[in-house]
Amino acid sequence: MKLSSYAVGAWHPGLDDGTLVADAVYGQPVALVSSKGLDFAAMVEHARRVGSPNLQRYTFHERAAMLRALAQYLTERKEDFYQLSFKTGTTRRDAWVDIDGGIGTFFSYSSLVRRELPNERFLAEDDPLTLSKQGTFLGRHILVPKEGVAVHINAFNFPVWGMLEKLAPGLIAGVPAIVKPATQTAYLTEAVFRAMIESGILPEGAIQLICGGIGDLFEHLNEQDSVTFTGSAATGRKLKVHPSLVANAVPFNMEADSLNCSILGQSVAPGDEEFELFIKEVANEMTVKAGQKCTAIRRVIVPTDKVEAVAEALSNRLSKVVLGDPSREEVGMGPLVGASQRDDVAAVVAKLREGCEVAFQGSPELLGGDWEKGGFMAPTLLYSPKPWESGAHDLEPFGPVATLMPYKGLDEAIALARRGKGSLVGSIVSYNRQEARTLFFGCATHHGRMLILNRENAQESTGHGSPLPLLVHGGPGRAGAGEELGGVRGIKHYLQRCAVQADPTTLMALSNEYVRGAAVREDVVHPFRKYFEDLEIGESLLTHRRTVTEADIVNFANLTGDYFYAHVDEIGARDSIFGKRVAHGYFLISAAAGLFVSPAPGPVLANYGLEHLRFIEPVGIGDTIQARLTVKSKSAKDPKPGERPTGVVTWAVEIFNQEGKTVALYDILTLVARKPAAYTNPCA
Ligand code: NDP
Repeated sequence: MKLSSYAVGAWHPGLDDGTLVADAVYGQPVALVSSKGLDFAAMVEHARRVGSPNLQRYTFHERAAMLRALAQYLTERKEDFYQLSFKTGTTRRDAWVDIDGGIGTFFSYSSLVRRELPNERFLAEDDPLTLSKQGTFLGRHILVPKEGVAVHINAFNFPVWGMLEKLAPGLIAGVPAIVKPATQTAYLTEAVFRAMIESGILPEGAIQLICGGIGDLFEHLNEQDSVTFTGSAATGRKLKVHPSLVANAVPFNMEADSLNCSILGQSVAPGDEEFELFIKEVANEMTVKAGQKCTAIRRVIVPTDKVEAVAEALSNRLSKVVLGDPSREEVGMGPLVGASQRDDVAAVVAKLREGCEVAFQGSPELLGGDWEKGGFMAPTLLYSPKPWESGAHDLEPFGPVATLMPYKGLDEAIALARRGKGSLVGSIVSYNRQEARTLFFGCATHHGRMLILNRENAQESTGHGSPLPLLVHGGPGRAGAGEELGGVRGIKHYLQRCAVQADPTTLMALSNEYVRGAAVREDVVHPFRKYFEDLEIGESLLTHRRTVTEADIVNFANLTGDYFYAHVDEIGARDSIFGKRVAHGYFLISAAAGLFVSPAPGPVLANYGLEHLRFIEPVGIGDTIQARLTVKSKSAKDPKPGERPTGVVTWAVEIFNQEGKTVALYDILTLVARKPAAYTNPCA
């Protein structure tokens, strides 16, 4: 099978045979990989001129709908991907992490965006900042999609997840991508990519693929482009300083070798649930994907007096792992990606052994597969009695290998963890919160993520090695100092943040969001009588007034049972910070609703939230309140099949008193009906 690249809207088989890739299990030829003949300049140009405008026509929510449709399309075809994945050496369990994990990232980003981002083409970040005394000069950050291309260079170990986790945030942002998979497993990436193209869901130019080398691609990148890289630190360091990237200040996100650790708490004794959890987690991390995970546990840091028990329990568990052809159900661990990778890892193990003992060496027995031609390697547990002299802090054996090392006291455990000089992830297994706290704060500066595992979360924990779409993936120092995923944070990497300074009304016009102090517009029609489409940002209602009486306060206290002294106790209230009895804050909110609500049935369907509530001035008996209700922002919702189209309208509410002083500020959220014809499905 000769792999093809997908460039400028067409498939291009390499013009020469390129690299012959063998399967990981039997060493049989699988694919020829070459990018010869590709016009890399044209690919970049196509992404900029076609992909970028095509994607940026859509809003965040519409692009999220595309991701969901793609995820559904891939899910229906995933069995084909599983069959191919076996050739890369993965068991079904390993492939689940790669294939379902990758597709799950699309689903997850799709939901996240509809929950957390506006249905816009740009993102107004945080709240506006008042930069002047009179409030006529404000500042805010507005993020817009970059107009370039994101180049994603992926490692061999996650041919599907690696591609999809990088694509998701960039596509949501509206930035097209060029994907370059690692040659060794490019056949699986190509199959998934091909399905995405066949689906016809993404607009032309949104994604392109390079199977093989990237030629002069970097020469054509400029200040609007970005590169994300996962792989070895050596390659990452080399690519990062490519003259073209340096000259154009092209952002380069790097995720590289990481000597992750897991620490067993001092408080944990053999027989405790946490002891078992620790053993299970370490063994799992050593054997899932045959240890070829950037997040796998390489350094097993345990209290000196538990080393023996840990070594014994781990050896017991690892000795039960069945090696062989990963497509067979009985097999627990497949080979590394290929024989040469196995030889590389064996060479690293040989170096590590110079300062270590072998605590456990798995047997070379196989259930299917070819030991010589495939990439098989048995699990290997090393023991480093002098942890400060261990090579395990510097060398990454990218296979089923970990090094056990002792610590005396939490300070030493922390210092050893930090000796990894920056890791993607670390874990602490302890049921003692003080111990977990000490270890966490000692290690946090050197880790991108930390799992604290104990009996209370073990059932539901996603494990040490699993990056999650909503949490950041990346780590300082040796781990590359990059950051991917992390929910909305990941999307922002593809957006340019521009700080805008303007008056409130201009800022409202730019951000599509009402800003306090901006000019409002009033209409004879009550805003609650209008459909979603007819409401304009800044449209406002000034209500009639209401004088607060003692009866209001007493009635509200009786109704709710809230007899707080400041409301009902004349003497207590006189001594309070208010110096008099004041109305309940929640009475004011309720009374304001009574002022602004239009009660008859209409397009406003439900009130489902209140945010950013601040009580500013007290309201006493005899004070008169009035409210202003202003359309702050609008977000159309994607209706589920058969569901009525609606949108969320956020209203800014200001309650003020007879002196014009603001007494309360908050936002309320309502669900408002859309006109039936207004909705079009971007994926239809
Ligand atoms: P590499 O760093 O060699 O490759 C990673 C990616 O970079 C691949 O897509 C590769 O493509 C590409 N690449 C390599 N050289 C260049 C170049 N000059 N220009 C553009 N792209 C390039 O890592 P490997 O996949 O070979 O793995 C080697 C070692 O790296 C592993 O044994 C392991 O130690 C470590 N590694 C760490 C990972 C992590 O996440 N921590 C993940 C994977 C590997 P191609 O395959 O075509 O060369």
